[in-house]
Amino acid sequence: MYAREIEADLTEVLVTEAEIHAKLAELARRIEADYDGRDLLLVGVLKGAVMVMADLARELRNHINMDWMAVSSYGAGTKSSGVVKILKDLDTDLTGRDVLIAEDIIDSGLTLSWLRENLESRGAASVEICALFRKPDAAKVEVDVKYVGFDIPNQFVVGYGLDFAERYRNLRDVAILAPHVYS
Ligand code: 5GP
Ligand code: MG
Ligand code: MG
Repeated sequence: MYAREIEADLTEVLVTEAEIHAKLAELARRIEADYDGRDLLLVGVLKGAVMVMADLARELRNHINMDWMAVSSYGAGTKSSGVVKILKDLDTDLTGRDVLIAEDIIDSGLTLSWLRENLESRGAASVEICALFRKPDAAKVEVDVKYVGFDIPNQFVVGYGLDFAERYRNLRDVAILAPHVYS
């Protein structure tokens, strides 16, 4: 269904577009109920969370704001460095805000545990996390993630915003990247 050269780079589709959308709708119902009557600030982590943010935001039927951050932790490789650097900061003052970080995937957890602390230190009223994917077997630090889409095996996946060397973000599904691509 993708171009032949892309199909050759994928081992298997792990989660389909339809499954992703159904899950985001389910999470959105919980989020709406939890934040009833409060303006929520969705913080998207560029670039991987672009698709999650776009689809989750459109599922939510209450008031939301959106802002974006870019942090580096991976470069072009497949392993987290644990060193997080802000490449683009928020435009929004977080004082008193209810913040929900919209993330694509939690692997080691290093990026998100750092990010949560960073946002909390700016005086937010609350900071919670919504991550579409989580790899429980890869966790190096425990991160309390209130909204999780799918727990997946400890394999490198691409699609739906997730890249390898900036490719594959445009795939509608999430698929396991064939090892020949990165080894
Ligand atoms: P962590 O700090 O939790 O190890 O990973 C943070 C970031 O690494 C994620 O937000 C994501 O951008 C990237 N990452 C982690 N696992 C994967 C994966 O399986 N595939 C892709 N494409 N990126 C990943
Ligand atoms: Mg990310
Ligand atoms: Mg990446």
